Amino acid sequence: MKNQETNPADNQPNQQPQSEQPNKQPKDKRRFSFYWIYAVLFAVLIGVNFFGRDADPTVKEEIDQGKLTEMLKMEEVGKIELVNREDAEIYLNQKGLSKHFPDAKPASNGISKMPNYTYKIGSLDRFEEWVEKAQEGLSKPVYIKNVRRNNWMSDILGWIVPFALLILFWVILMRGMGRNMGGSGSIFNIGKSRAQLYDKNTNVNVTFKDVAGLEEAKVEIMEVVDFLKNPEKYTKLGGKIPKGVLLVGPPGTGKTLLAKSVAGEANVPFFSLSGSDFVEMFVGVGASRVRDLFNNAKSKSPCIIFIDEIDAIGRARGKSAITGGNDERESTLNQLLTEMDGFGTNSGVIVLAATNRADILDKALLRAGRFDRQIYVELPDIVGRKEIFEVHMRNLKLGNDVDKEFLAKQTPGFSGADIANVCNEAALMAARKGKEIIEKQDFLDAVDRIIGGLEKKNKIITQEEKKVIAFHEAGHATTSWLLQYAHPLVKVTIVPRGNSLGAAWYLPEERQITTKEQMYHEMIATLGGRAAEQVVFGQISTGALSDLEKVTKQAFAMVTYYGLDEEIGNLSYYDSTGQQDYSLTKPFSEKTAETIDKRVSFIVEKAYQEAITILTEHRDGLSQLANKLIEEEVIFGEDLERIFGKRPWGNSEDEKLKNAALKAAESQNQTEQEPENA
Ligand code: ADP
Ligand code: ZN
Repeated sequence: MKNQETNPADNQPNQQPQSEQPNKQPKDKRRFSFYWIYAVLFAVLIGVNFFGRDADPTVKEEIDQGKLTEMLKMEEVGKIELVNREDAEIYLNQKGLSKHFPDAKPASNGISKMPNYTYKIGSLDRFEEWVEKAQEGLSKPVYIKNVRRNNWMSDILGWIVPFALLILFWVILMRGMGRNMGGSGSIFNIGKSRAQLYDKNTNVNVTFKDVAGLEEAKVEIMEVVDFLKNPEKYTKLGGKIPKGVLLVGPPGTGKTLLAKSVAGEANVPFFSLSGSDFVEMFVGVGASRVRDLFNNAKSKSPCIIFIDEIDAIGRARGKSAITGGNDERESTLNQLLTEMDGFGTNSGVIVLAATNRADILDKALLRAGRFDRQIYVELPDIVGRKEIFEVHMRNLKLGNDVDKEFLAKQTPGFSGADIANVCNEAALMAARKGKEIIEKQDFLDAVDRIIGGLEKKNKIITQEEKKVIAFHEAGHATTSWLLQYAHPLVKVTIVPRGNSLGAAWYLPEERQITTKEQMYHEMIATLGGRAAEQVVFGQISTGALSDLEKVTKQAFAMVTYYGLDEEIGNLSYYDSTGQQDYSLTKPFSEKTAETIDKRVSFIVEKAYQEAITILTEHRDGLSQLANKLIEEEVIFGEDLERIFGKRPWGNSEDEKLKNAALKAAESQNQTEQEPENA
């Protein structure tokens, strides 16, 4: 589970406020000023629209046809000016002025200095005709004078605004593209690497103290730091300093965190980016970014380059000939290989890369001289989990009853990121309840919540359904309890949570190899749910979807991968190289395919019948268990022990563990979930 700080190259301010700041600030400033320009332009536009048109300072009264005719007849009009063939401006003469505007003084020629009225002309010809007609018979008729008046403001704006808009649009487009691609503001930077640089100025304050557990990984990676700081120590003896270190492990186990802490510990510049940062829609960009990245790095050596999720570019090349391959990704990878070969052993650049799928990486990446060291970052064990809890509880206000060791026991299979999530969730839950401190129960709730999603107490389940679910879960519990090699059950609930209607937790043995017998017993237990439905109700339901999926896959793996089936024999069609594309061609004949199908269904069927036999035989116990489940919604290993007796082969180690961690189920590893009636 990757929740925090997965990808330092991402521009997500709320994730890494500290280290982002130096890069962020100038950018923000520039954007800020840009917005001002937009705002001003916008205001001007609006202004032009509203006032530009009639921005004539001498606002005059509009006059209608009748009044104008009358004035013309009375010889009150001194002059008519036709402005831009649109408006007529009427200037009164002495007579007209003294009648209508007694205060106004005429100019020396006896005509008003300013137009007194305007008249909006509809048709120009008609207007002229009509003015002429109105003055028929007068001795001194007024003639219409044409004037052109340029409103240069609006003219210029009329030219400029479209251009400005065009440019503005272009700028926005370019900036948007730049942000998406180069991150550095313009399309011209597209070939530049997008790596984020952490150095003295950006003070990375992650150190080994913040990385809990992972002791071996720390030791190994500390060596890398030593290489960087004292290269002579190694080169003196003729040794070569490794160029690349690959961190391999499941998501959320702290690979990114570890890489960052190396930078913090070594006090050298640290370039961080994600594999997908190289990939772009333009051809050649990836390769050019790789070049740019290495050039930058060399100029800052000694330094560390960290490439997260390197599988984005490092996937094996030329795997699918049919699709034509991904040329761009390939050339990026080639460039990376070339660069890694290219720099000398003492150039002081070390490349760290992280992946959770080392198996799909191109072999060329892993050979000596490139990522020749691999550090495995595994899911934390119980001690590791306790330490991770310690790290993440540092800043929490804890109640006295919070026991880290107990919590570590509660969370097998959790990654560091999951535990970080639990701590955060517990804090939120306590806050929601208005508490001052975070108590044990909050942590337990958080664990439950993260395992199964939020409890949905108000989900409506009919009594009938509840009964079916209870018997289904009891079926799992009973079969697994009664089979020697199945994992003994720790806790079963039928409280619906998240997407599942019921869940069972088992205590898995730590085992590296699984025998055929063990696999088979697990399959019987997995089918125990459906078998119980069959035995008790005589009918089966859709509630067993995930069980069936699991069992089918397991049977298929037994037959085709592990060579555990007599009829197929000691053959494995597993391809660890990932080079073959089996979706199109099968590595076996049609006849073998038929045999495989037959054997898979035979194994599953046999296991199912076995489950039915066990449950029919222990029908009483099954009912007792199911009824208790209906009543209490949760049962524990002890209840099974009371009903069926101790497991004769139950290993004492497990027993001890189980007793130590009380009621609340100590081990929540295998969460078996039933999908809602799918
Ligand atoms: P990965 O890169 O392996 O997917 P991250 O390094 O991004 O995982 O881990 C995500 C988060 O999980 C970290 O930011 C940290 O809070 C937490 N975490 C993971 N492993 C550890 C650990 N060993 N110690 C402390 N915190 C951890
Ligand atoms: Zn089931």
